Amino acid sequence: MQKNKHLIILHMEHIQCLILGSGPAGYTTAIYTGRADIKTVIYEGPLTGGQLTQTTEIENFPGYPEGIQGNQMMDDLRRQAERFGTEFRMGSIVEVDATKRPFLCKSDFGDELLADVIVVATGASARYLGLETEEQFKGGGVSACATCDGYFYRGKDVAVVGGGDTACEDATYLAHLCNKVYMIVRRDVLRASKAMQHRVMNTPNIEVLWNTNTKELFGEVNGFMSTLQGAVVVNNKTGEERTLKVDGFFEAIGHVPNTDVFKGILEMDETGYIITKPKSTATSVEGIFAAGDCQDKTYRQAIVAAGTGAMAGIEVERFLMENK
Ligand code: NDP
Repeated sequence: MQKNKHLIILHMEHIQCLILGSGPAGYTTAIYTGRADIKTVIYEGPLTGGQLTQTTEIENFPGYPEGIQGNQMMDDLRRQAERFGTEFRMGSIVEVDATKRPFLCKSDFGDELLADVIVVATGASARYLGLETEEQFKGGGVSACATCDGYFYRGKDVAVVGGGDTACEDATYLAHLCNKVYMIVRRDVLRASKAMQHRVMNTPNIEVLWNTNTKELFGEVNGFMSTLQGAVVVNNKTGEERTLKVDGFFEAIGHVPNTDVFKGILEMDETGYIITKPKSTATSVEGIFAAGDCQDKTYRQAIVAAGTGAMAGIEVERFLMENK
């Protein structure tokens, strides 16, 4: 039995660099490792191209003076990685044996392979309220990224849900661009730091709605096109309902890093973000690196993810040179 297992492993596919995830971090890593002649395979995960394929226009990624559609940018990055020999596979890696190198990995399609190094670039997913009406307006008024989409609501009225640092940062950012910002906060306090709270309280065009939850969103829906027109909110102490006429509804109620596969394997913070060594993408396991939003809860920007992807690519190359 043991002998058979050994034979299977001998005949198993063995690659140098396995990348998990196909956002800016994963593709950028592959551009670097591919150019360094490292055999690189990407498992693209449940959403080829990652979170950016869910947004409309990206205007803050350097190099695109006219802006670019999220799908187009991810397609460009993918083709750039392909040019240097990256192989793309459908599916996700669902099991990793990190006790020895090369690492034995299994995908949800049942493929098994050995990888000398792994780069985790699985990203994070924005948390949404889960309202039935929310789905209709994603991309048509509902957004989880004020920095990405705020500009489209210049001079308009918008709402931000949440009471943490992100919500406060988003509300003050939007207050510069928009006519009015409603902050929908479910308790009578903000979770955010005092400095952030102070900024919110001192911004005249932000109105905080305390003890408030969102009941539903409404607007026009024409096939795939939808335009948000407002939200019905309810005071959870008095039961009083109020209709907010808003064009944009920004949700800032937290993100969930896609790191479940590595629980118990890699060191993480209490919210599941992978901890990397300072100024590095190295994780707590030698030979496993992490780049992009799965290890970054502060910036969460495509350009930052691409930057850490470049770091991972360089570190993978050095690691393979030193561990031949
Ligand atoms: P947080 O988890 O800190 O806050 C989430 C907020 O959303 C909370 O106010 C929470 O309410 C609210 N919320 C959660 N679920 C719901 C729901 N279903 N309905 C309504 N409201 C809900 O997430 P953040 O993204 O704000 O921050 C994440 C981390 O990143 C934090 O550590 C933060 O400090 C950090 N950060 C730092 C920044 C900076 O320093 N510049 C900027 C942005 C983030 P409740 O309070 O009632 O639980």
